[in-house]
Amino acid sequence: MTRILRTRAELRAALADAPRPVGLVPTMGWLHDGHRALMRRARVENATAVVTIFVNPRQFDDASDYTRYPRDTAADIAICEAEAVDLVWLPEVDEVYPPGFDTTVSVGAVAEPLEGAARPGHFDGVATVVATLFALVGAEHAYFGQKDAQQVMVISRMAADLALPTQVIPCPTVREPDGLALSSRNVHLTPQEREVAPVLHRALLAAREAYREGEREGEVLRALMLEILADEPLAQVEYASCADALTLRELQRIEGPALLSLAVVLGTTRLIDNELIGLEE
Ligand code: AMP
Repeated sequence: MTRILRTRAELRAALADAPRPVGLVPTMGWLHDGHRALMRRARVENATAVVTIFVNPRQFDDASDYTRYPRDTAADIAICEAEAVDLVWLPEVDEVYPPGFDTTVSVGAVAEPLEGAARPGHFDGVATVVATLFALVGAEHAYFGQKDAQQVMVISRMAADLALPTQVIPCPTVREPDGLALSSRNVHLTPQEREVAPVLHRALLAAREAYREGEREGEVLRALMLEILADEPLAQVEYASCADALTLRELQRIEGPALLSLAVVLGTTRLIDNELIGLEE
């Protein structure tokens, strides 16, 4: 039985006698198969699975992105039920940020480049809400998608630095058959943009292939991704990065694990994607 909870007090009461360990999946709703993969993992690795659904205003640097973010509570609840989630927390904004809330959690260097540079304040919003959710839920485990690779790094840094007792567990990116990473924002793509969208994954795979064939110059891989993206006039590139997988500093030469990542705007929709290379290949 999936229980739907609205207030902090309801959540605390439900967790007080919940079987341990507890696994947490924080989401912003409009749930898709990427979220479902996280829920399944939380379900099998824990005695209690908790999903939070909250479109967090503090992590939007663009007001219209926040207002038009897709929402469908009934469909989301049905998905949580189908995945046998025990507790779903669906708070209002005031419940997460009660009047007087005046704390910001701000992670340092790893939050600065890429998404941090493109979206000022975004990671402060993410870190602040995730720290709040970690404190409210007190889970042993929390599951995050590698689709938002920098987000996982920022949250892991925060959890380690603040000695938070919740273990952060990254999970693989779930994709459409044509390679497009699932995202709630994909719903905004026009049919034409949807056709173009797999170009992000194609560019990443081409760079990964070049790496496997021996290319080690970061600039060559960045240029290769840009060249493939340039084939699609609808795709406006924000960044094409080949960075150290631990620090996210842009690499001249690849000598260890590296993160290839892209941010591309199609019409009014901003898409991100990434691939890790140089692990044990
Ligand atoms: P969101 O609702 O977009 O904030 O995402 C909630 C969680 O689901 C985050 O940890 C995301 O990284 C993760 N997620 C989103 N899309 C995917 C995907 N395609 N594959 C795996 N995880 C995802």
